[in-house]
Amino acid sequence: AWAAAVGRRTVLLAEPRAFCAGVERAIEVVERALELHGAPVYVRKQIVHNSHVVADLAARGAVFVEELDEVPAGATVVFSAHGVAPAVWNQADGRQLSVIDATCPLVEKVHAEARRFTSRGDTVLLIGHSGHEEVDGTLGEAPGRIRLVQSPEEVDALDVPDPERVTYLMQTTLAMDEAEEVVDALKERFPAIVGPGSADICYATSNRQNAVRKVAQEAQLVLVVGSANSANSVRLVEVSRRDGVASHLVENVGDVELSWLDGVETVGISAGASAPPSLVEELTAALSGLGATDVTTRSVGTETVAFHLPKELRRAGAIAA
Ligand code: SF4
Repeated sequence: AWAAAVGRRTVLLAEPRAFCAGVERAIEVVERALELHGAPVYVRKQIVHNSHVVADLAARGAVFVEELDEVPAGATVVFSAHGVAPAVWNQADGRQLSVIDATCPLVEKVHAEARRFTSRGDTVLLIGHSGHEEVDGTLGEAPGRIRLVQSPEEVDALDVPDPERVTYLMQTTLAMDEAEEVVDALKERFPAIVGPGSADICYATSNRQNAVRKVAQEAQLVLVVGSANSANSVRLVEVSRRDGVASHLVENVGDVELSWLDGVETVGISAGASAPPSLVEELTAALSGLGATDVTTRSVGTETVAFHLPKELRRAGAIAA
């Protein structure tokens, strides 16, 4: 079947792509916790939204649970990169769990803004997608005083106690163009509205969107490596499609359908912030197996962001060293 897709081809790798600093940190948190405490280490929710990462850590002794009542009292539990509501911290206290928090510092920034704005009396309008763990966590900072807004169409129906005291915040992994449309609608409805001090959509999300748009300018097909529940990966596919290019989300090379490659001379490749770089290498190698392939990179810049480990692990790391 691969024969039909054989031909000379160019592969354009979008840079940056794959793991961001928050994801690398979250994975390292689980690895260090396993070294320090031994298996099992409990993790609430998927540590990051990638099935390969989760399967790999599970094989090494991480036990993924949906909620804290599945964790034995007194055990160690890691909170995922997406953050949790204060109610979850309280629940952990109640069960004497020892928590290692792998919440990305850039998600924590949005939580801090939510606390600051609601405590000065604002209604916060959170632009985001219903049901995403990060959104659940942020909404939980001030239940009732933070409202979710998913689209410009939802803005009209909003009912706030005081239209002069309204702030907006965002999920970190939104599409920049879509978020801007919601902000425009909010500004029209609430002229006094103010936003966060600095962008809530994180550097990794915006860099990956800019990079995928760069390869989409030249490619006839864009493949994005990532899991279906990874918000930022799904946004990369949507952004490329809005730029008019056929685009598919693939968990790994096994998901690629050969018919997608028919007549395609230039393939763009990116990967969401939770996807391991090795999966991109496998995909590129498989495409190269189909015939002469030039692999080049289209870059919008390199990333140098790195985050410290949580303090529980830094202390332990210092002792171990
Ligand atoms: Fe943090 Fe952004 Fe990565 Fe999410 S995508 S973990 S907010 S750096």
